[in-house]
Amino acid sequence: MIKPEYVLFFDNHTAQACHNVGHNFDADFFADQIKDTGAELVGFHAKCNQGFCYYDTKIGIRHPSLKPGHDYFGDLVSACIKQGIKVTAYLNCGLSNEDGVVHPEWCQIGKDGNIFHPEILESMITPYARIMCINSPYRDYILSLIREVKEKYPVSGFLLDSFNAFPCYCRHCIEGMRKRGMDPENDQDAAEFARFSALDLASDISKIVEPRKNNLLLYFLGLSPRENLKYGSYLECECLPTYPSWGYDALPVQARYLRTVVKDEPVFNMTGRFYSWGDFGTLRTDAAIEYDLFYGLANGMRPNIGDHIHPSGIYYIGIKDRVKKIYDTLKQYDPWYRDAVNPVDFAIYLPNPYGSSSTKSAVRMFCELKMQFDCVDAEADWSKYKVIVLPDDILLTRKLQQKVEDHLRSGGKILATGESGLDPAKAEFCFEKEWGVKFKKDKTFCPAYFTMTDDWQKIIPALPQAVNSDCMETAALPDTVVAGKIIAPYYDRKWDGVYSYFYTPPEKVTTLPFVTFTEQVAYCSGKLFDGYNTAASVELRNVCKAMMDHLLADPLLKVESGFPSFARAIVSDQADRRMVHLLNYLPEKRGEMLIVEDAFETCNIKLDLRLDGKKVKRVCMAPAEEEIPFTQEGDHVFFTVPRICGYGLAVVKFE
Ligand SMILES: [Zn+2]
Repeated sequence: MIKPEYVLFFDNHTAQACHNVGHNFDADFFADQIKDTGAELVGFHAKCNQGFCYYDTKIGIRHPSLKPGHDYFGDLVSACIKQGIKVTAYLNCGLSNEDGVVHPEWCQIGKDGNIFHPEILESMITPYARIMCINSPYRDYILSLIREVKEKYPVSGFLLDSFNAFPCYCRHCIEGMRKRGMDPENDQDAAEFARFSALDLASDISKIVEPRKNNLLLYFLGLSPRENLKYGSYLECECLPTYPSWGYDALPVQARYLRTVVKDEPVFNMTGRFYSWGDFGTLRTDAAIEYDLFYGLANGMRPNIGDHIHPSGIYYIGIKDRVKKIYDTLKQYDPWYRDAVNPVDFAIYLPNPYGSSSTKSAVRMFCELKMQFDCVDAEADWSKYKVIVLPDDILLTRKLQQKVEDHLRSGGKILATGESGLDPAKAEFCFEKEWGVKFKKDKTFCPAYFTMTDDWQKIIPALPQAVNSDCMETAALPDTVVAGKIIAPYYDRKWDGVYSYFYTPPEKVTTLPFVTFTEQVAYCSGKLFDGYNTAASVELRNVCKAMMDHLLADPLLKVESGFPSFARAIVSDQADRRMVHLLNYLPEKRGEMLIVEDAFETCNIKLDLRLDGKKVKRVCMAPAEEEIPFTQEGDHVFFTVPRICGYGLAVVKFE
């Protein structure tokens, strides 16, 4: 398996109106520049979403302004290989506007019978582009293009885009659905058939490329990580945090999930030097790009910086210099990244590979608490986790019910909130005895407030606190500890036709539990993570911490002081050392945009790290290996990191 450590990707979706495509491209100069950045692999377009090919094709449509005989992609591959740089070919397999112009009969058709333009693309990255139906003759055409590139050029793999599986209602798809006994008028059937068609095409491409046999990289954008590992050979985490549909909550979820899915396959962390695809004129700051890439490296992902090449083929020196500076900075730490794994205490269950708003909120909250965890699906092995977190709305399907039962039977613990733990009909908790509460109904008050009781009163200020989300009505079983109760407002928020009930102050403490503890389960009847997502009340995080403290006596890492809530601390292991990655950056909403401009300095970060039976020889800061005084007490090492600016890597070397 090839495992390039530093990657660059160049987008090159070039309209027919660009009159000089590749005219200023000097392949040897380009390869020299790439070599200078330190990148070992370049992704480049063989075919773009406008439907144009940039290589010497006998099958596809060459971009009309390429000079006659100019093999843009081929020259780039030869020049890069001469410099020891590998190249993967990008082909867009779904969006292909020019093919739709030439062959309107290959276009996807919407349910209304017109050529299909998905809303998601109208408002986003690729407005007004035609999408090809992969059950039309376009299917053989795209397969033949991939075969042509593979046979013609010594590429190291393929990045294939737009396996979005939008339902199609062309005659080929309708026939295909009917042949399989599916009903084209049934939306679920149409969606299932589209999914099947995308996977079927991926399977045929996989047979052409044979990625594992030929040691080639193969990834399908639009397929899930698990589907990709079936048909492809590596994972690409595309995430532009400045783009609203990703944001800064996406990478933390993906970083913790993808490492649980791969065996030995590489994972690339693809950020961008710009704010969004199609943005030619923005160069994000060093700190912004570093933050994304250090975050990935701390979690076992390798850096990939997304870029656009200018249509004429110019690679701007301003971009090259920034990429080189960033890659030079990252490379100093490589000995501490190679073959590192992330030890964790618990896992958050993801209802889909990208997480819901509640799971993203849970990930954010536990990151703020500097806790160490994975994100897992129902296919993962849960046996290594002491605690499984089920955020807000995880109903236990038969498969999940079995996973939770196995986890509880082996002594594992559960942190659940809101509806999590209910059966799919929302009639009762599947493990009522273990949960310690009886389900009554899925609503209480609007709005609901809460207070903590007994010793837990001190974790929040003395006043009724807003939940900022729905609360379940439950009743505690006899042996259950009730640590918090729901407070009712005077009345629910409403308009009765005469009076407005908009101001809804809290009135009285009810007997309804808000937080409960049993031996194996900490349960909050409110949708704690949704509430935190809505209003970011730190008291909700205090409640969550108290719940986790009940379940997890001895966490892997405690940051005792000196590190702000927005900073991140991630633990990783190599054979003879345990490391703490410290990241001190802050995405700031500046006007319409989320930006990171500065790497913040911080001093005297006091850490308490569990050792899992190891004895400490020395503690130092990478890469210069400055020694740090430490004390070992039992299974913990205590030390203070004197100073970091942006990123710091503390290394605990074992005897
Ligand atoms: Zn179709």
